[in-house]
Amino acid sequence: MGYTLAANLDYLSIPYVLLEAGDHIFEDPRAGTIHPPSLELFRDIGLIERLQSEGSVVSSFQYRDRRQGVVAEFDLSTLADETDFPYRLMLEQHKVCRLVHEHLGLTEGHTLRRQHRVVGVSQDGQGVTARAQTPDGEIELRGRYVVGCDGGRSQVRKSMNVDFTGFQYGERFLVLSTPFDFGAFGYARTNYISDPDEWCALFRVPGVEQAGMWRILFPAGPDASEEALFDEAAVQQRIQGFHPKEGPYEIFHRNLYAVHQRVASCYRDGRLLVAGDAAHINNPLGGMGMNFGFHDVFNLADKLRQIYHNGGDDSLLDLYDRQRRTVASEYLQRQTIENKKNIEQKDPQVRQQFYEELRSTASDPVKRKAYLMRAAMIEGYRYSLSIQ
Ligand SMILES: Cc1cc2nc3c(=O)[nH]c(=O)nc-3n(C[C@H](O)[C@H](O)[C@H](O)COP(=O)(O)OP(=O)(O)OC[C@H]3O[C@@H](n4cnc5c(N)ncnc54)[C@H](O)[C@@H]3O)c2cc1C
Repeated sequence: MGYTLAANLDYLSIPYVLLEAGDHIFEDPRAGTIHPPSLELFRDIGLIERLQSEGSVVSSFQYRDRRQGVVAEFDLSTLADETDFPYRLMLEQHKVCRLVHEHLGLTEGHTLRRQHRVVGVSQDGQGVTARAQTPDGEIELRGRYVVGCDGGRSQVRKSMNVDFTGFQYGERFLVLSTPFDFGAFGYARTNYISDPDEWCALFRVPGVEQAGMWRILFPAGPDASEEALFDEAAVQQRIQGFHPKEGPYEIFHRNLYAVHQRVASCYRDGRLLVAGDAAHINNPLGGMGMNFGFHDVFNLADKLRQIYHNGGDDSLLDLYDRQRRTVASEYLQRQTIENKKNIEQKDPQVRQQFYEELRSTASDPVKRKAYLMRAAMIEGYRYSLSIQ
């Protein structure tokens, strides 16, 4: 989110210093899905062509039962009269970061400092002070505001007078990736696959030189060690159990993630603000966390524009909090918790009922559109802007 906020501040001619703890962009396989409202926002700051040049379009997704096959398929072109981007753009998060970074002006007053780990922030009547550890020792920087885009364990949030309430799931999520082409076996490029014993989600991202890489996300019990979960034989058994084939799968990544559902009790404490995972975290089913963070930073950048260029009152930052935190609780949390509950449903009757609802939703144009407006994050995004 830091790069995306910086790109907005560049665009709006607002000076900043971006402090990044790492010395490079990490390539762990996390987000891969960009939804229509985010694409619209990136278009507005001149970044859409870059994203499209490396991303791949997904115009429909499937909901499946692991044993019975396709339950329903949802065609995103249903949203063609609502957005210029009636699809999901698949593009790995680290590539988004790289492309946004390449777009940054990084001229005087617009600065990125890598290997600067923020260890504390404080504020007074005149501004903020950030302390950061660098290879050359600790430094202090002064500014008008600090925006913590520093992820789920945000140091900035910990320096604010706010809670991060919610819960952690007992299970973790195991992500495997393989170049094996599941598309040749009838899978869409995004699939949610329900099962009472071992649900999974399967989606295709561009991969190396856009040759295609399929990621499979499985639940992993709380007690298994990472070593046992990543063991070659165990990984082969798991993926062969899902889709048997001759010979072993070529596995590119194996990663394990703890999963939480949490929202900060306030996104603003005076001159300190949070956005992205620093403000809210959720399970990845539906591909919403990063997108929601994008919507945060575009919203916040516009408030900062009004303050910096138009003498706007800093109560606009309270509006940022109201708009974004409300939808994080009412949409992001509700929707992602529901997505997980549905995909793992153990009660056969409840599962069948859910499938019936999905089929009827997919075949009824009005219901389908309403469903896709939520799944494509358009409804929540528009609702946030309507909050005063
Ligand atoms: C398996 C998986 C799949 C996912 N799929 C999707 C998806 O398809 N779509 C979607 O929208 N979301 C998805 N998500 C969620 C998405 O990955 C996160 O929401 C996103 O990474 C949040 O970005 P962020 O910049 O807020 O935080 P992070 O990605 O955590 O980045 C934080 C940055 O801050 C830096 N930092 C941390 N602490 C400090 C410090 N003290 N000082 C300076 N710098 C610091 C870090 O180095 C890092 O660069 C997925 C998540 C997982 C685990």
